[in-house]
Amino acid sequence: MENTLAYAQQQDHNDTLNGFRAQFYMPIINGKPALYFTGNSLGLQPRTTQDAIVKELEDWATFGVEGHFHARNPWLSYHEQFAAPLAALTGAKETEVVCMNQLTVNLHLLLVSFYRPQGKRYKILCEAKAFPSDQYVLETQVKHHGYAYNDAVIEVHPRKGEYCIHHQDIIDKINELGNELALVMIGGVNYFTGQVFNMQGITLAAHSVGALAGFDLAHAIGNVKLELHNWNVDFATWCSYKYLNSGPGGVSGVYIHEQHATNAETPRFGGWWGHDKESRFKMNKGFVPIPTAESWQLSNAPVLSMAAHKASLDVFMIAGIDKIFAKRDKLTSYLEFVIKEVATATAQHLEIITPTNPAERGSQLSVIAHGQGKKLHDELTLLGIIADWREPNVIRLAPVPLYNSFEDCYRFGEILTHLLLKNK
Ligand SMILES: *Cc1c(COP(=O)(O)O)cnc(C)c1O
Repeated sequence: MENTLAYAQQQDHNDTLNGFRAQFYMPIINGKPALYFTGNSLGLQPRTTQDAIVKELEDWATFGVEGHFHARNPWLSYHEQFAAPLAALTGAKETEVVCMNQLTVNLHLLLVSFYRPQGKRYKILCEAKAFPSDQYVLETQVKHHGYAYNDAVIEVHPRKGEYCIHHQDIIDKINELGNELALVMIGGVNYFTGQVFNMQGITLAAHSVGALAGFDLAHAIGNVKLELHNWNVDFATWCSYKYLNSGPGGVSGVYIHEQHATNAETPRFGGWWGHDKESRFKMNKGFVPIPTAESWQLSNAPVLSMAAHKASLDVFMIAGIDKIFAKRDKLTSYLEFVIKEVATATAQHLEIITPTNPAERGSQLSVIAHGQGKKLHDELTLLGIIADWREPNVIRLAPVPLYNSFEDCYRFGEILTHLLLKNK
């Protein structure tokens, strides 16, 4: 690899996904397209999204309530269009996934089904520094069942002086908790470090002590390869506005292993959209769950938000997820290389805390700029770089294969070098 414009442009030229960048709107700073590295926080808007939403607005105008049957994508069965792409993205059967609600809401609904503490088996294992919303979910769930937070929620920490968590430490903790462990609930990819957890190994270990395993895939879906069904994962949920580019507050989705989804005895909260489709409108007493993940749906589909989701997933399916993941590794490695070159050229300590092993990371590098402060981030923004800053000095950068280029990585390095030298 070379830290030169010519090399970066040659990589873009050789990249078969290069054309997809033009299918997204790049935000503008100072009249110029920004260098956007925050697709892990809010993915960019595909150019097809607006038309997809307008189409539903037109059908609503044309058909009113009849749009449930006569819209170009009938609203009654709207969510069914997502079974195939979501199954592909999560490595699930089509009957194991459904698109609904928001992420935190879904996490609560899934814990209704899969956190069923009994006797001494009531503990939940999660990663330290889990996303705050997930922490609040676990805290309020255990309290709802009458347990104390500190007693019932056990965190696995990185070792002293480290940022990522050793897989073996998670497994050891699971075995240590043994028959006190009800559930392992971890983010598939840690939002702070970008570390990808070994979900298969964690699930196997949880099952071996009689516990269940579920994952929050907010930073994983559309970013890393998932094989939820084959890994025997019990449940998972995600949001669609990060790597899935489906718009702010976009609709979430859930995965429920078929062994639970087809079992009418699995406890779940009911609503009319989860009820047997044949008899849904008979409005009879008695909830009859659809024998798929669809039975976790409560309400009818939020069509406008789902239209944006559909437009974005179409781009994913056309590009092909394996190609996206292959480019992800090249692009992330290139950004890593550029950052190391910048560190050398400026004699600045830039510590990348994301794992170096490509199997343990996706499209994110978290970098500690030692000795630098928020000023550096503000200056980066002024010079057209949108990157995420976490106090005191962590920069999170996500080079997203669908719309970031090798040239973006090179340009980022160039601007960072300039600022670090100037601020010396
Ligand atoms: C982004 C994110 C959330 C956000 O939750 P919402 O319910 O969509 O607001 C929750 N958990 C994790 C791990 C996230 O990365």
